[in-house]
Amino acid sequence: HFSTAAVLEEPITPPVQIAYTQHLIDGKFVDSASGKKFPTCDPRTGEEIAHVAEGDAEDINRAVSAARKAFDEGPWPKMSAYERSRVLLRFADLVEKHSHDLAALETWDNGKPYEQALKAEVPMLARLFHYYAGWADKIHGLTVPADGNYHVQTLHEPIGVAGQIIPWNFPLLMFAWKVGPALACGNTIVLKSAEQTPLTALYAANLFHEAGLPPGVLNVVSGYGPTAGAALASHMDVDKLAFTGSTDTGKIVLELAAKSNLKPVTLELGGKSPFIVCEDANIDNAVELAHFALFFNQGQCCCAGSRTYVHERVYDEFIQKAKARALKRVVGDPFKSGVEQGPQIDSKQFQKILRYIKSGIESNATLECGGERLGSKGYFIQPTVFSDVKDDMLIAQDEIFGPVQSILKFKNLEDVIKRANATRYGLAAGVFTKSLDTANTLTRALRAGTVWVNCFDVFDAAIPFGGYKMSGIGREKGIYSLNNYLQVKAVITPLKNPAW
Ligand code: NAD
Repeated sequence: HFSTAAVLEEPITPPVQIAYTQHLIDGKFVDSASGKKFPTCDPRTGEEIAHVAEGDAEDINRAVSAARKAFDEGPWPKMSAYERSRVLLRFADLVEKHSHDLAALETWDNGKPYEQALKAEVPMLARLFHYYAGWADKIHGLTVPADGNYHVQTLHEPIGVAGQIIPWNFPLLMFAWKVGPALACGNTIVLKSAEQTPLTALYAANLFHEAGLPPGVLNVVSGYGPTAGAALASHMDVDKLAFTGSTDTGKIVLELAAKSNLKPVTLELGGKSPFIVCEDANIDNAVELAHFALFFNQGQCCCAGSRTYVHERVYDEFIQKAKARALKRVVGDPFKSGVEQGPQIDSKQFQKILRYIKSGIESNATLECGGERLGSKGYFIQPTVFSDVKDDMLIAQDEIFGPVQSILKFKNLEDVIKRANATRYGLAAGVFTKSLDTANTLTRALRAGTVWVNCFDVFDAAIPFGGYKMSGIGREKGIYSLNNYLQVKAVITPLKNPAW
């Protein structure tokens, strides 16, 4: 019954060439110290598309030295804030100019629909740098009215060398969330991209050098987590660490940071976000948004609405409509126009999702549709809907990170608040109701960093994002992200003549 969705044919040739596969250290593309390379693959076929320099501890050392020198000797941290802002603006303009290449590389390496990369992710990348360019010359301290005859002021200084580790699900957007605020505040950076998706970070970092960023300010090392990533997290000369990825790895990097030089750490981790459909909600809108909230980006979103709670009075209607919507989902070659869902990122994630589907079936959830791979090559999975899901099932507790919707029934607000909060995560939540009182009750009761009311996945450079509980530490984007990259220095000087 997936005939309308299955449009898998010979893969379309991506409309882009791969120009950069080496690390970018101190403004130059260089091979790994070891000479090693690793393959990056096309999720449509599993075939290799390029061999990329494989960094480990020695490459991280070289990148950190370059970033240290660029921080200590300048000119970046001491440059006029207005000049820094202009570099960010020039980069944002170059992103717009090269948007087709960036989107095509992102789709080739990650498998997401090209139209979504081109119309959503790449414009959001440019927009974020416009936003933080605006902050660069508006970061300043305070004059403090302390007791006694003292002049007291605070200086907001860049924190130093920032280490940043990003995942594969939104490679360009994660690059933006990390690099934007760090550069606006005058820091230098060593960024490690995800091993599944190294291509766009290198392309974007090269655009930064075209935009006039001094060498050594932004260094990009490709490589694996336990080698390159761990070396960055435990480096004694890195002053701050920002990480996005799984909760398990978040715990590892926090420990590495603590055991080395106690660098402050911000973490953006997993989620199991509730999407709550109240009895008074507009059901057609709620079905469509619940579908989007879960299936967007092949279900590979940390904030995916992966526990769909539906009020018992509208439950049966909701299930029928959610199933019909999933059956209509267009899965296929992400370069093909009109395709809504491409392949999962790699074999490991693909197998993991299929195991969760099996566990859902074995635990007696009702499989409404999907449940199997689609086609015979690459990592495509049928849009899958489970109903009759119970809170204690694995599919209702773990982050599946795939196109698997789990629908649960609830009785009243008290019941759903308790159950929605009964999770180790707290990243996001969705609330669907026409009642202002219900919306106000739920938005205050839910323990999550973002609550979307009658909408979902609304992102903006100015809106903070981050998690409660084991979904992370700290907030990214907006004004909140600046604090992650600043030190506050209190300066106290005696006043000789207080009468004046
Ligand atoms: P991961 O946490 O292992 O990888 C994220 C980043 O951390 C990558 O750059 C990786 O190389 C690096 N890393 C891995 N081990 C490391 C270590 N020991 N030290 C330092 N860095 C390390 O995530 P994954 O294995 O790619 O995906 C597994 C699961 O993580 C997914 O199924 C999903 O549940 C979750 N995930 C969440 C997000 C998110 O945005 N919250 C993103 C990707 C994956």
